[in-house]
Amino acid sequence: KKTAVLYARYSSDMQKATSIDGQLLLCRKVALRNNLDVIGEFVDAAKSGLTEGARDGYQRLLNGVRNQEFDVVVVEHFDRLSRDPATIQRLKQVFEFNGVELMDQKGVYATATDISIASLYNTIYKPQLAEKVRRGHDNAVANGRIPGSYAYGYRPRAGAPGERVIDENEAKIVLRIFTEYVAGRSTRTIAADLTREGVPSPGSTRHKNKAGRTTWNHQCITGGRYGRGIIGNDLYIGEIHWNVRSTILNPETQKKQKRRNPEERHIIVKKPELRIVPQELWDRAQKVRSARAVSMFGPTGKPRRRAVIPRNNEHPLAGVLRCGVCNGHMRIAQSSRNGAPRAACASAHQRGTCEHTHSFDMDVLLEDASDKIQVKLLSPKAIEEAMRAWKEERKNDRNKGSEHAKLERRRGVLTTEIERLSYAIANSRRKPDELLKRIDECDLERESIEARLRLLGGGGENVIGFDRPKFSDRYLSEVRRLITALKTNPKAIETRVAFRNLIECIVVHPVPKRMPYEYTPYLNSSALCGKNLFPENRSKEREISTFAYYDNGKSG
Ligand SMILES: [Zn+2]
Repeated sequence: KKTAVLYARYSSDMQKATSIDGQLLLCRKVALRNNLDVIGEFVDAAKSGLTEGARDGYQRLLNGVRNQEFDVVVVEHFDRLSRDPATIQRLKQVFEFNGVELMDQKGVYATATDISIASLYNTIYKPQLAEKVRRGHDNAVANGRIPGSYAYGYRPRAGAPGERVIDENEAKIVLRIFTEYVAGRSTRTIAADLTREGVPSPGSTRHKNKAGRTTWNHQCITGGRYGRGIIGNDLYIGEIHWNVRSTILNPETQKKQKRRNPEERHIIVKKPELRIVPQELWDRAQKVRSARAVSMFGPTGKPRRRAVIPRNNEHPLAGVLRCGVCNGHMRIAQSSRNGAPRAACASAHQRGTCEHTHSFDMDVLLEDASDKIQVKLLSPKAIEEAMRAWKEERKNDRNKGSEHAKLERRRGVLTTEIERLSYAIANSRRKPDELLKRIDECDLERESIEARLRLLGGGGENVIGFDRPKFSDRYLSEVRRLITALKTNPKAIETRVAFRNLIECIVVHPVPKRMPYEYTPYLNSSALCGKNLFPENRSKEREISTFAYYDNGKSG
């Protein structure tokens, strides 16, 4: 009986985004039908931006192929391995060289030629399909119907697909945004006001799962480079503008980009009954917008386009930084003069709900932090501490899952409470003393919960058992390896994985301009408890049958 492994990948930009469970189920059926003995599965719940090199499950699969640990690889469709015909053909040659078969629901791909014919068919057929869909949409627009989602201010008309009616409540908000914008208010303050008043945001009215979410940001008002926000939506003056832009995929970064279509492809249809904004108000708003763009970006009114850097040299600190004021995430907000990314609090930068507006050079922070972490981790006290945490961890391993969930719920409750109180203080004339006291209490409790959560680590990871002297050896060697890697090759994938395994988060505190950065790194205690920091190379052991790798799948 032949042995087989399954491979599944989910990424949001795939046309048929079958869930990973669905893919695996299908693979198992194929394996059963072909009388294969399934000994393992590999999964990448990867971000769509990652290339083959950054997909852990894929790399492990490839190692298995090279070591000839199984006879067949089963996938739902070969494009799960790669969507690029050149890559898939090279891959098939590697399979062939090692005598491993590639199978999907259509059967075995016997030769590299088979697979290139199949992928050729894909590259020819898919654009044709897209073209058909596009023509259908153009047709609908020409008849005054609008394919796709509906804009803020409108509802779909029941029983008439593609038709819209004005939603009176949302229309009032649209008018208010235009009026305030023309009066000279900044989009950030308009957005912050709407959030504070609890006005449902565009996303929350369209998606059931986001109901009640009321965070507005400035981008939904003016949009980005293409001005696709509320201020620029021609539907508010009763015109449907269709086919103005199209989305293309950058083959280097796998990121989607917008391009403006040539004029002759634009379709404009008038629907006066959908007008919300009077012409005069609209014209004034457009004037304000172009004046602001010119004063911001120079005579063209457009930001300079920078070269897009491929995503696989993502910064090790990305996703690690937290705001010291609101405890929210920090995001890359701008870049330093030398091109290094700068991080700022996402709430402050995007929504105006946090006052921590200063940004931090991520390269400077990383260099400083790796020195500090080195001192911190290699001191005898730290080793002792790690050992203690490791013992504690093993003791608590069994009951920690439920405690983790309970703490997390409580933390959520406290966060909501604190937000509620902050709004109350901002909007009432009463003396805030009592409210402030209550906030302090909540904050204190939340802090202790967070400390406990950090100690518990990520949940139910298994701990590799080994004895005392071995533990400190392993610990020291892993830490030294990480420090060296951070200095010599900070952007390599392994370094990033190891760094994030070790560092739970870094809380960045507000400091005045040009002062040294202040921050507190929090270590992931489960990383101190004997888990390998660097991704393992399992080529020697044949333990593949018990093994399934799940990428953390942050963006599904
Ligand atoms: Zn903040």
